[in-house]
Amino acid sequence: MNLIDELGKILDSSRVVLDPEEVEHYSRDALTPSRAFGAAPLLESTADVVVKPTSVEEVVSVVKLAGHYRIPLVPHGGGSGVMGALVPVSGGIMIDLRGLNRVLEINPKDRTVTVESGAILEDLANALNEKGLMLGHDPWSVPIATVGGAISTNGVGYRASAVGPMGSQVLGLEVVLPSGQVLTTRSVPKTSSGPNLNQLFIGSEGVFGIITKATLRVFRQPEERLFSTFRFQTFEEGFEALAELFAIGLRPAVVDLTEDFEGVHLYLIFEGYKEGAEAQRERSGRVCQSFGGRDMGPTEAIIYWDTRYHIAETYRDSMAKMFRGEEPRQQGRSFDYLHVALPISKVMDYRRRCDEIFKSYDIRVTEYAIWTEPELFSMLLVPGDRTNLEDIPKAVDQVLMLAQDMGGVMEYCHGVGIKLSHLLAREMGTGLEVVRAVKKALDPHNIMNPGKLAL
Ligand SMILES: Cc1cc2nc3c(=O)[nH]c(=O)nc-3n(C[C@H](O)[C@H](O)[C@H](O)COP(=O)(O)OP(=O)(O)OC[C@H]3O[C@@H](n4cnc5c(N)ncnc54)[C@H](O)[C@@H]3O)c2cc1C
Repeated sequence: MNLIDELGKILDSSRVVLDPEEVEHYSRDALTPSRAFGAAPLLESTADVVVKPTSVEEVVSVVKLAGHYRIPLVPHGGGSGVMGALVPVSGGIMIDLRGLNRVLEINPKDRTVTVESGAILEDLANALNEKGLMLGHDPWSVPIATVGGAISTNGVGYRASAVGPMGSQVLGLEVVLPSGQVLTTRSVPKTSSGPNLNQLFIGSEGVFGIITKATLRVFRQPEERLFSTFRFQTFEEGFEALAELFAIGLRPAVVDLTEDFEGVHLYLIFEGYKEGAEAQRERSGRVCQSFGGRDMGPTEAIIYWDTRYHIAETYRDSMAKMFRGEEPRQQGRSFDYLHVALPISKVMDYRRRCDEIFKSYDIRVTEYAIWTEPELFSMLLVPGDRTNLEDIPKAVDQVLMLAQDMGGVMEYCHGVGIKLSHLLAREMGTGLEVVRAVKKALDPHNIMNPGKLAL
């Protein structure tokens, strides 16, 4: 019996996809060739087969089969990753986890939800809302991304200022290891009984196992939600105001400082119990004004909040059209977005030095932003009239390495994927040797998403 027959026995043939076009669609995420730079040729790789399990038992059987044949196995969530982390660079079996999508238990007293990893964040959020609760992780990609994908990239959402990235909300995990064994961690917020093994899988892009279930901290719907918009003359004034807000211990639920063609604006949203939200808004207003901020009232921040999923909804609809063959796959425009993390004291100097680098290549930065915390700095790049397009990857590597050299990291929310793996050893140093040793111990034949995290 060959591998495909054996997969058909585990899953029934309707959940084993061999159609080349469909398999190719599964083999791509949101990384377009124009943003992949040196990794673009890897985007030609496709899986050999896609399987769609609906239970942990089926996942275990597929993992054991892949182990037996030593065939690569790549977990697929919503396919919304922007770094190519699910691109099957060595072919093999792609395992679509969206059939594991049940919300197993919502517990308002414990403020937890236990959910299968393939659940789409939006569906989970809706189920929680019905019980007066909400999901802390609220990225742009809510309509597409899955629980497992968000954990595996340690994604950052709008409320990360108050509740941290997705990884901070993970209490317990169920993971199918490359051996086929099932690891279950206990769902409590803290442990001192040895290392917290959840951390091994958070942000690990599926290289250590397949997450099948998660217990997450969830939050009661806020009593109050208040909105503020401030305009500043310069990005630096807004940045210093934000740094001061955080220094005095304020934690707005949502923080977005952006400089674009319209100027510099800061959106702040305060959530929680009524008196707390009001006090935070009042004190934030005073801090922002003391740094030259002009209070524009709530309206712009409300519009920002109400339209926050629009880009992802458009992306999802266009993906559906591509899947039905009604639209070609996007090659992408020549642009890039970078999301680095640096110590607060380095951010403004970093921005100045990046400006010099980009100027030397005639690359324009159309947006600078701080999202959720003062340390997290983003830039949106487009070519200028005289840019040599081949210089964009060089310039991008230069500024990412500059972030590393200034004590920061090259990416704070989207993962490494195929796009950034060439810079990971530089950033992690001996840490990557540790990761390699763990990988070797858990996955000696490197079947689990090979080629990712520089493994
Ligand atoms: C329009 C748009 C907006 C976005 N906005 C944000 C944002 O606001 N914040 C943010 O952080 N990111 C954002 N992203 C990036 C992306 O949505 C996130 O990285 C998301 O967390 C990925 O989830 P996914 O289910 O789509 O994962 P996928 O792309 O399917 O997979 C990502 C990685 O996780 C692995 N993986 C998936 N499921 C599992 C599992 N169950 N077990 C083990 N490994 C698994 C895959 O192998 C891959 O390595 C955005 C992307 C798009 C296209």
